[in-house]
Amino acid sequence: MSEECLFCKIVSGEIPAKKIMEDDDVVVFHDIAPQAPLHALIVPRRHIRSLDELLESDDGLVGKMHRVAGQVVREAGQGDYRTVFNCGEAAGQSVWHLHLHVLAGRPMKWPPG
Ligand code: 5GP
Ligand code: ZN
Repeated sequence: MSEECLFCKIVSGEIPAKKIMEDDDVVVFHDIAPQAPLHALIVPRRHIRSLDELLESDDGLVGKMHRVAGQVVREAGQGDYRTVFNCGEAAGQSVWHLHLHVLAGRPMKWPPG
């Protein structure tokens, strides 16, 4: 847990969020500024700053984050979806606790901006 981290505070319940599901490894909640009809964030409980901080022992965790993404989309009754990890400031990362974006419910353009 990082004292100053927004998503650690959401994981611990100190800051409220619209939670979709949680288990021992991950917490899933709605993004506060949704960019699609479904915009969920899949966050590991453990504080990991970004993709660049992952350890080999996290390979299973990252796989699980993707599996949970599909589950969240199906349970929301959505079809096709996009998952995104922004890694680094220039790539759009603004919260320094690893999170997988899951977007669904509208057509997606490529390449993303
Ligand atoms: P990033 O820009 O780091 O890839 O994504 C951070 C995401 O967190 C953004 O989509 C932003 O809207 C979302 N976000 C920022 N602050 C909060 C908050 O307090 N609650 C929730 N639920 N989402 C947040
Ligand atoms: Zn954190």
